[in-house]
Amino acid sequence: MLYCLRFFVLARSDSNKQTPAGKAFTAFAVEGDSPGICRGKKEVNLGQRCSDTRSITFEDVKVPAKNIIGAEGKGFKVRQLMTSRKTKIAMRTFDKMRPIVAALSTGLSARCLDEATKYSLERKTFGTEIAHHQAVQFILAKMAMNVELSRMITYKSAYEVDEGRIGSYYSSIAKLFASESANQAAANAVQIFGGAGYNTEFPVEKLMRDAKIFQIYGGTSEIQYSVICRELLKIFQRNSTIRV
Ligand SMILES: Cc1cc2nc3c(=O)[nH]c(=O)nc-3n(C[C@H](O)[C@H](O)[C@H](O)COP(=O)(O)OP(=O)(O)OC[C@H]3O[C@@H](n4cnc5c(N)ncnc54)[C@H](O)[C@@H]3O)c2cc1C
Repeated sequence: MLYCLRFFVLARSDSNKQTPAGKAFTAFAVEGDSPGICRGKKEVNLGQRCSDTRSITFEDVKVPAKNIIGAEGKGFKVRQLMTSRKTKIAMRTFDKMRPIVAALSTGLSARCLDEATKYSLERKTFGTEIAHHQAVQFILAKMAMNVELSRMITYKSAYEVDEGRIGSYYSSIAKLFASESANQAAANAVQIFGGAGYNTEFPVEKLMRDAKIFQIYGGTSEIQYSVICRELLKIFQRNSTIRV
């Protein structure tokens, strides 16, 4: 079993329930072998089964003050301006992580397109390869379009992070678009494979199972819609425009 060497932990450090979330949480780097850390059983997930998912419980774990990331009470963020570098720790982590999920999603979409295109040139129905049926061509064309668009918005969101303009806006757009596209791509790949697509002997059913989690971890799609709109409103309330 692989053990995480260090955990990123966001914990409530102010027990007063009246304290707003933006001040009540602190971020910590916690050593994985600290006494009091207990790992649950490995979960059996729908897809991405090489990834080790478990619940982790913390009981009287002692964490030295030097392991605080940032400052006490600055772990979670409720308000962030797109141009501000003084963002709080949790949201900065999400802003950097979401382009990575977008990149993973884009990779899965590209694999779906490769597999579906290859199969469409091999499988024949009604005397011709299925790639020559217009209905199949439309599906492949939409998949190709979405792979390119996912790749572009992923690069854009990563570029914003590289430039130090860490903002939720592009990270969330990239994560949402690429993960939704990956799920469409996987479903379309299964469709193009027909009955074979539903079978574990062929690669695409696994891609469909693997794709689902992209819409869930790193913040669900519903949360990304909220973040995008929240950031959009902030930008316009500041009488500004979106950078292009
Ligand atoms: C395989 C796997 C790996 C994971 N890895 C990590 C990890 O490494 N680190 C980590 O921190 N977490 C990880 N997670 C947790 C993951 O980020 C959460 O499962 C995810 O954010 C959703 O939270 P939840 O499960 O509590 O769902 P809930 O918050 O209970 O959501 C249930 C449903 O309600 C909707 N919903 C909830 N709140 C709102 C709202 N305000 N507005 C609109 N809709 C809403 C959701 O979109 C969803 O459809 C992992 C989860 C899985 C399954």
